[in-house]
Amino acid sequence: MHETSASIQITALPAFNDNYLWLIHAGKHALVVDPGDASVVQQALQAGGYQLDGILLTHHHADHTGGALALQQHWRCQVYAPDNDHAAYRELDAVRVKDGEQIVFKTFPGLSCVVLSLPGHTLDHIAFYINQQHLFSGDIIFGAGCGRLFEGSPPQMYASLQRIAALPAATLIYPAHEYTAHNIAFALTVEPDNLALQQRAQDTAALRQRQQPTLPTTLALEKATNPFLRCLPLSQQAAFYHWQPVDVFAELRARRNVF
Ligand SMILES: [Zn+2]
Repeated sequence: MHETSASIQITALPAFNDNYLWLIHAGKHALVVDPGDASVVQQALQAGGYQLDGILLTHHHADHTGGALALQQHWRCQVYAPDNDHAAYRELDAVRVKDGEQIVFKTFPGLSCVVLSLPGHTLDHIAFYINQQHLFSGDIIFGAGCGRLFEGSPPQMYASLQRIAALPAATLIYPAHEYTAHNIAFALTVEPDNLALQQRAQDTAALRQRQQPTLPTTLALEKATNPFLRCLPLSQQAAFYHWQPVDVFAELRARRNVF
């Protein structure tokens, strides 16, 4: 469990092969981000004695939305989803939220939650930025990596990652998948001499050996080690000399697809 400011706590709930469903809780109240599996969430709620007050969905993929209907029906709580008419949201009684919108949770007084529109992985993808400190980012950014471009273009995804990069360096990032180790192996093919990346490879291996999450991560660590946030410095290195950063991004994403 991760103790945070403004008295909220955040817990990773492992699901499927490599998903994390993030539970945000304070006292007896909880919110969940991307509940792909309702039973995993129900078990955690029961174990902690929490009631579920809200469901936050970052995008329409089934491993992020699959448990939302059962949880909403059980808890009669509000669902917040991207502003899109996708079938995954239509069966839910969901509030559609747009870029810049603030969500208020009555049972979490003092909690601020701002919606960021970050297209690329899907066109409707959003993130939830809580207390100007915690970014629940779905499948946009991973530890040392980024999401695949299922719907968006490289310039769209690059712009979304740049928007994340502009947040404070201490921002804690909560991706929805444990892909860090494989992403680091790829990143080392791009920057074998990056000392921060080499250190992260060791730290990540130690965490995984103990079967612990490598997440959340920090924006500062991603800027030092995530090649998809390092396209500008990479464009000044010999391998990509005189490339535009967005072209470096597109090339790295294409290489990672087959890594
Ligand atoms: Zn996805």
